[in-house]
Amino acid sequence: MARIMVVEDNALNIKLFCDLLTAHGHDTRPVVDSREALETAREFAPDLVITDIQLPHVDGMELMRLIREDAAPLARVPIMAVTAYAGEGDDERIRNAGAQAYVSKPISVVRFVETVDRLLEDGPIEADRLEDDGHDESGPREGAASSQDRTPDEGPAETDEGPLT
Ligand code: MN
Repeated sequence: MARIMVVEDNALNIKLFCDLLTAHGHDTRPVVDSREALETAREFAPDLVITDIQLPHVDGMELMRLIREDAAPLARVPIMAVTAYAGEGDDERIRNAGAQAYVSKPISVVRFVETVDRLLEDGPIEADRLEDDGHDESGPREGAASSQDRTPDEGPAETDEGPLT
């Protein structure tokens, strides 16, 4: 059994993910409002974080950076991103933001569960890996991440209503 925090703004998806994880014996903590995610993570101390990328307020890319910049042990938690689009370049962008893996939506249940198992088996990220991330050949993560548009706190920018959520 592992402690898994799931950040996802879509009610059906978060229920699906948490039901799946619970059925596999895990202790899940759903977070619908990403503004609560960092504080919840500090308190819940998850073994794994699963986060949607397209989230209102704090999007998944930003949340991953906040977690990686937080104090240990949270900074070392493995992160699995879930995203509706994973086009060319997205893989690198998502990994540079701090994810160990991503699964595209709509999810394959088998792939979802296998990826969760693999990340839990790998365990916390080694501290030297975290430090290396900022200055290895893949470039600084600030640079890779700066092109990501952030959803404003207010306004009509929520794009998650369609079939892509
Ligand atoms: Mn979403």
